[in-house]
Amino acid sequence: MLTSRLPIRVEPYKLAAHGERLEGLVSLADMPRLAEAVGAQSGEAQVWLDFTIDAQGRRGIEGHVEAEMQLPCRRCLVPMASEVESDFLLGLVTSDSLAAELPSTHEPVLVENEQLNLLGVVEDELILSLPQVVYHDEAECQVSRDQLSSGAGAVESESPAESPFDVLKHLKGKH
Ligand SMILES: [Zn+2]
Repeated sequence: MLTSRLPIRVEPYKLAAHGERLEGLVSLADMPRLAEAVGAQSGEAQVWLDFTIDAQGRRGIEGHVEAEMQLPCRRCLVPMASEVESDFLLGLVTSDSLAAELPSTHEPVLVENEQLNLLGVVEDELILSLPQVVYHDEAECQVSRDQLSSGAGAVESESPAESPFDVLKHLKGKH
């Protein structure tokens, strides 16, 4: 279990030259794009980053991130605890054209003025690793299957003015 904070602004080429490892916690509350995707989060992500130079001379970061988040259930929208984690391999580049030369095993990360903001890197990885959909177990979900089917019926009965036959008439009129 990590207890220290991950440094946010680093010089990744220097770290790679020295084969450094950085590890620490990053606050999920500092990630506005993540909040936009799945709602505001509290808690921490645990992050491990190895700065490396491979046999081809590429500077990169081998990383792992994991965090417990509160993701909205697709059915009832009540947040549920969900583990999100990712292993990744980043290639450090200083221009878009260099990014295009990276092999497909590497995700490019643009480094400007020798500086890299690790908060943004970790946030990107978490967003990329979000599950497509999360559901409560049926027993725990606020919306049971019965409510779902009766709910659908209720929606139909709320608009009695338009019977299915009227809808058909509209459709025929258009053709
Ligand atoms: Zn639910």
